[in-house]
Amino acid sequence: MYHETKCDQCGDCFVTCQWIEADKDQAVIWINQLRNGDHAEVLDKCITCYACNEYCPNDANPFDLVAELQEKYHTPITEDTVSQMEQRYVFSGELKDIPEADRIMSLCVFSRTDAHLIQGELYDLPTVAGKPFFCWVMFSHMAGESVQKKHARELVDRLAQTKAKEVVCFHDDCYSILAKLAPDYGIDVPFRPIHLSEYLVEYLTANKSRLKPLNIEIAYSRPCASRFTPEKEHFIDELFELVGVKRVEREYDRLNAMCCGSTKMMLTGADPKPDQEKNFIDAKNAGAKAMVCLCPICMHSFSMISQEQKLPILFIGDLARMALGEIEVPV
Ligand code: SF4
Ligand code: SF4
Repeated sequence: MYHETKCDQCGDCFVTCQWIEADKDQAVIWINQLRNGDHAEVLDKCITCYACNEYCPNDANPFDLVAELQEKYHTPITEDTVSQMEQRYVFSGELKDIPEADRIMSLCVFSRTDAHLIQGELYDLPTVAGKPFFCWVMFSHMAGESVQKKHARELVDRLAQTKAKEVVCFHDDCYSILAKLAPDYGIDVPFRPIHLSEYLVEYLTANKSRLKPLNIEIAYSRPCASRFTPEKEHFIDELFELVGVKRVEREYDRLNAMCCGSTKMMLTGADPKPDQEKNFIDAKNAGAKAMVCLCPICMHSFSMISQEQKLPILFIGDLARMALGEIEVPV
């Protein structure tokens, strides 16, 4: 939620934006247009990387205002397209074979699209997956924030049917909705969401004597949804320490992370390749031998640039599997 009273109209959010050119004067005009509920050019140009929520020094959540008004003005995605997409993900059948356990893992829709990333002992716990457990955060990217809000309650209620006290979230987006967005919407979440990185740290710590340090320098590609829950970031560093990799210091990391750019193509039709190139060259110049991703969608988005730049992409869960000796270190 945008906090009008916290915003001093400084314009820093849009000046800092990596995807839109705006000087201070322009940014101040835009934020004031948005505060009045008016259309502003930034609505058409925003690629919904969510970063300005984290850039704002006053925690005013400017992206939330952008998202609300992108929906109001149906830009850059039309109302019909949003509605068609919503229908694609709605589940109206009966839930069957729901596991009951104190701890479960929610795989969102990735058990079908990225099953190769969900292998081995780390994932040997009861899971739920598929359409009924889709997290809807994608709609923040497509002028449909209210769709995400509308379906958040169903997701929470379906997960609660497992009677789990803890739900491990395979995807950063799922963690965002359960740990941050649903509570912001006033939805009671009757279990503790656990981020994948926290789960991996816990698992590896319990199996520390088995770990073989990987001894490689890596760059980390922080995904867009991490802007919603930056407080869990320390688990990422703890995980890297446990598996014995060094996260290189570089320009496009942490607060200044650059998202994968997949939404740039979707929302503006522009090729994100030049931005991805900057990101990968930055990683290589800092000495990284691989780009580690938390989000499978980033991995898909980076597949071409990874080959061109000869910098392999590794899934963060696979780092844990490598340290456990389950799979080979490919670099
Ligand atoms: S949202 Fe934050 S960064 Fe943007 S104008 Fe308001 S106070 Fe400044
Ligand atoms: S969400 Fe990202 S692209 Fe959109 S205005 Fe904020 S920083 Fe810029």
